[in-house]
Amino acid sequence: MSPSPSLSRAEPAPEAAGMPEQPGHDCPLCPRLVTYREANRAAQPAWWNAPVPSWGALDAELLIVGMAPGVKGANRTGRPFTGDFAGTLLYETLLKFGFATGHYGADPSDGLALHGCRIINAVRCVPPANLPQPVEVRSCNRFLRSELQAMRPLRAVLALGVLAHSAVLSACGIPLSRLRFRHGQILTLPDGLLLADSYHVSRYNTNTGRLTTAMFEKVVEALRGLLEQDPVAQMPLNQL
Ligand code: SF4
Repeated sequence: MSPSPSLSRAEPAPEAAGMPEQPGHDCPLCPRLVTYREANRAAQPAWWNAPVPSWGALDAELLIVGMAPGVKGANRTGRPFTGDFAGTLLYETLLKFGFATGHYGADPSDGLALHGCRIINAVRCVPPANLPQPVEVRSCNRFLRSELQAMRPLRAVLALGVLAHSAVLSACGIPLSRLRFRHGQILTLPDGLLLADSYHVSRYNTNTGRLTTAMFEKVVEALRGLLEQDPVAQMPLNQL
């Protein structure tokens, strides 16, 4: 499966006013990930093999934050959560609750469209063994912070897993020890932004039963309900 022809491999242009900062195609900030990237480029030259850009409109009210691209998923296709197991549960759920239309076909050319949500990974480059190191999370946090600042209508963030939860707090300048991850909780951050937690939609979590389809749907359904309320009247839930 080849990368989408619509995805440019060129270095990004300098950010226009109000646009989030984007890593270059050859972002050098994480040496270990650069080495892995170059090995993947040599082994699989038709794959994306670069920082995976966020996907969805910048004026969306919901930002979904994953951990990092899967080597045969987003690292291959160039679209977040596309091409491996995790995308199936995520996109089928977004379709069910009106955050997407079309059909998820595990390929950037499948015609799937997002509505009112944008998707990003806390770490934009694929890590070996699917496990980013803390220094890599910190290095890539500048891009997540820039996304959060650029999404001015943003009202809610859905963090998929502990790493994403911590990365969002870091990007918001909130001490990690104050607000611990807990599946199903929806917190209100000091600036009024809602932060919802869910276990990651990974194959491991679903195979072990840590995250079921019903559990994930309950989180997304709650977010849908909150986003449909008047922002002034919106009340956070402590947990589902
Ligand atoms: S993970 Fe982020 S900071 Fe690190 S090399 Fe990739 S784009 Fe750059």
